[in-house]
Amino acid sequence: MDRRQVLKIGTVAALLTGSKLAAAKRAEEMADVVVVGSGGSGFTAAITAFDAGAKVIVLEKMPITGGNSQLSAGGMNAAETVIQARKSIKDSWEIMFDDTMKGGKNISDPKLVEILAKNSAASIDFLLSLGGDMTDVGRMAGASVNRCHRPTGGEAVGHNLVHTLRQNAIKRGMDVRTGSRAIKLLTDGGKVVGVEVRDRFGRQYDIKAKAVVLASGGFSSNLERVAKYRPEYAGFSSTNQPGATGDGLDLAVAVGAKLRDMDQIQIHPTQAAGSKILITEAVRGNGAIMVNREGKRFVSELATRDAASAAVLKQTGGSAFLILDQNIRKSLKQIEGYYHLALCKEGVTPQELAKACGITDGDALADTIKKYNAFQQAKKDDEFGRADMPRPITEANFISIEIRPGIHYTMGGVVFDTQTRVINESDQPIPGLYAAGEVTGGVHGANRLGGNSISETITFGRIAGAEATAYAKANRST
Ligand SMILES: Cc1cc2nc3c(=O)[nH]c(=O)nc-3n(C[C@H](O)[C@H](O)[C@H](O)COP(=O)(O)OP(=O)(O)OC[C@H]3O[C@@H](n4cnc5c(N)ncnc54)[C@H](O)[C@@H]3O)c2cc1C
Repeated sequence: MDRRQVLKIGTVAALLTGSKLAAAKRAEEMADVVVVGSGGSGFTAAITAFDAGAKVIVLEKMPITGGNSQLSAGGMNAAETVIQARKSIKDSWEIMFDDTMKGGKNISDPKLVEILAKNSAASIDFLLSLGGDMTDVGRMAGASVNRCHRPTGGEAVGHNLVHTLRQNAIKRGMDVRTGSRAIKLLTDGGKVVGVEVRDRFGRQYDIKAKAVVLASGGFSSNLERVAKYRPEYAGFSSTNQPGATGDGLDLAVAVGAKLRDMDQIQIHPTQAAGSKILITEAVRGNGAIMVNREGKRFVSELATRDAASAAVLKQTGGSAFLILDQNIRKSLKQIEGYYHLALCKEGVTPQELAKACGITDGDALADTIKKYNAFQQAKKDDEFGRADMPRPITEANFISIEIRPGIHYTMGGVVFDTQTRVINESDQPIPGLYAAGEVTGGVHGANRLGGNSISETITFGRIAGAEATAYAKANRST
């Protein structure tokens, strides 16, 4: 009986008798590399492993692939890229390294940050070679150079990224299974040798593999877990997809993995008030300012996320307003999406806008915009020292979006090394277990810079795919 027949019979039986049958006899399959998670890091690791000759199976617990990577909006940071060169943007991996270390408050692992920065240009090349579009370059908070790459016209990065990776997996005929949750890592003599899977019908089976890559993402949608590490964030909502629950961390800990920085949880300052929609930092990067209910600026809009979120929470009602104009709108296609979602209010004058959105002092808003435009012209923000002011706010209709901070990203995760090997409590690599992406800790320290996560998923995903395949090949006969 071949695997398909076993699965078919198993499916019908599992539907009839549930977990009783699954417990009686579990089917077993073989692979070189199993990848847990189908976001940017999972797909990248899987494609890299497949192209290096490995038999790969990708497991995704949700009904669709893509994870949080699919939702990513602002872009991907990379230094010394072909795209920057075309636009005469001077950057270096060393500046990206410094920005990242500083943004993470110097608690990141410098060896990992060096890998992130040094390999970022090659990761852009990797995506371009797969047919991705990364031709628009802007700036995200905490970056001292324009290095945030995204599709033409400032489209959200996630859709293009995941579509590109998905299409490449399809083109290669890769084995990608949705509705398939990794529930346990199989071990033998301290080595990870596969995964126990529960599929969408409740049936359980084993995949025996030489290596497993954990690419299961973070835990920002697990509000209980967030509150366990940061009680002050209880009651916040999350910008993440519902599958971002952190069960990959539990799988890793069960085989001895060490965790780090678990209390380093990022709140993003601009989640649209009353919704789960994230307003990308690129809106501020492209020129929007942020004002409080009284119509006044209160922080540099390009402050890092932790600083900007803390400042918003201190304002009346714990919320604030992004203020932009038609020029900024034209510069970033993603803003049309916010219109579709009815998140934008408009006014021909600042006073009219204030009325429309609930800012109490329209004249103060008009004054704030006028003052900001003068700073923009003089290229010097005398009030808050904003580093980059690419556009004035002059073209009516003026636009506002009310925002408040939401749980966005978990910097902590499994400890891993420069070869993406997962490290145990005795500071030794766990043979056969690799990790990449948001499930790991150490790359972003105390605060992730916008654009650095997608960069991380591609760079460490590539390394994990290559390392896991090399390990699998070396251990094929054992
Ligand atoms: C709204 C939003 C916008 C963002 N914008 C940006 C941006 O512009 N730039 C940037 O750099 N970063 C951005 N980020 C962050 C970035 O998108 C994520 O950190 C990154 O995509 C994580 O990639 P990943 O591959 O590690 O995890 P994910 O893409 O989340 O993929 C992990 C996958 O693993 C699956 N999974 C989990 N557990 C299991 C299991 N046990 N078995 C099987 N499957 C499992 C999950 O369902 C998920 O599909 C944004 C995040 C959000 C939420």
